[in-house]
Amino acid sequence: MVTVKLRTFGFLAVVLVGLLFSSCAAVPRRVAISGAAELKITQNIIPPGKCGRPLHRPMRPTFITIHSTDNTSRSADALHHALAMNKGLRGRHNRTGFLTWHFTVDDHSIYQTLPTNETGEHADYEGPGNRSSIGIEMCVNRGNNLGSTIDRTAQLTARLTRQYDIPLNHVVPHMHWRMIRYSDGRDLGFKKCPRILLDGGGLGPKWSAFMAKVSFYAR
Ligand SMILES: [Zn+2]
Repeated sequence: MVTVKLRTFGFLAVVLVGLLFSSCAAVPRRVAISGAAELKITQNIIPPGKCGRPLHRPMRPTFITIHSTDNTSRSADALHHALAMNKGLRGRHNRTGFLTWHFTVDDHSIYQTLPTNETGEHADYEGPGNRSSIGIEMCVNRGNNLGSTIDRTAQLTARLTRQYDIPLNHVVPHMHWRMIRYSDGRDLGFKKCPRILLDGGGLGPKWSAFMAKVSFYAR
């Protein structure tokens, strides 16, 4: 596991923390991400060929999909979601059999578990959401400051829009993508996610406020 600390003017400090204790522990490697605002991103990339990465499925990211978790237990923070994906987070009905996404954010940490140029399994099975978007999951676990989590997610999102030249109207909630299940072709419609940014189950002031933050940080 490698911690990458980012500061103004792209200052980069890489600190080796140690290997994970999971069965699919990630091999530490250096990754540089440029950006203006200070954000700390811990790399815990699922090893290729293991768990949620049985196939190499390259992706050119043109969207960013925002999610929030439904797990409110105190331990369900970004670290533990990263550990779970490294051990293999089972997802029925998709092609790999595992759930994967790129970044998980809580009020004090951000973990990356997939390269941004690789398809995850977080949005719509074999649909365009998975094939084209970077997935960001916000933690809603107990004890987690949601305001801070949302703000830090906006910072990360803004950075990624700049890095990959993704327009702001391609930053979308999970519910943007229609979920048609791969295994049996069943249409599951639109999942009400990210719940913490929806009003009455749909897009409203909370989503607008989030996008205003993204727009501010992207300048
Ligand atoms: Zn979601």
